[in-house]
Amino acid sequence: MSSSRTIPYTCPYCGKTYDIEVWDSVTADEDEDLRDRCVSGDIFRNTCPHCKKDFMVQFPMVYIDRSHRFVLWLSQETPGEDLIRTVAAPLAPQGYTLRRTPTLKEFAEKIQILEDGTDDRAVELAKYDSLIEFLDNKKGTLEDITGIEYQRTENEVMKINIRTNDKGLSFLIPVSMVLEEMEENSTLYEVDNSSFPVVNAEWIIGLFTPDDTNQSLN
Ligand SMILES: [Zn+2]
Repeated sequence: MSSSRTIPYTCPYCGKTYDIEVWDSVTADEDEDLRDRCVSGDIFRNTCPHCKKDFMVQFPMVYIDRSHRFVLWLSQETPGEDLIRTVAAPLAPQGYTLRRTPTLKEFAEKIQILEDGTDDRAVELAKYDSLIEFLDNKKGTLEDITGIEYQRTENEVMKINIRTNDKGLSFLIPVSMVLEEMEENSTLYEVDNSSFPVVNAEWIIGLFTPDDTNQSLN
């Protein structure tokens, strides 16, 4: 069951305190409206009643989707023992995908990826391959890129968008092609599902640059 509570929050703009609602857990298949507000980001959007500024407030949340069999832990922090014991221990053996998403953007995107039933590791590899193709074909430079996003999977083909300041480019990538690429080196892409691993741009770059030269793509 979804659960929320009201906490005092101090506006970062005017410094006045007021009450906001934060959701500790969302059960997506029972609360479709909450699911939609998670994807749109509205659940995190706040308007200060004093200075009327709009801003996002990220709070730790457990997001469970039983029909698509996944659990997301929205947090900058690794999960505590409680979450491992009460959520990971019973659900991981049932084939649930468990992931931690540190940012709101990754959180919303991950919901869509896992609802589509697409392997999110394959999505990150597809994004990486798209980036390499974008750069190799001189469509732009790394500095031009403002974001690399998963859009959807349709008929087993992933659509990846590389956004730049002026426009952008879409890549259509067959899921089977990426899964084959992963099979060639399967241990490289292994994650410890039951510990809520982070599978994002930093993760895939980290696989190809094992030293400390990781750079952010977002
Ligand atoms: Zn304010």
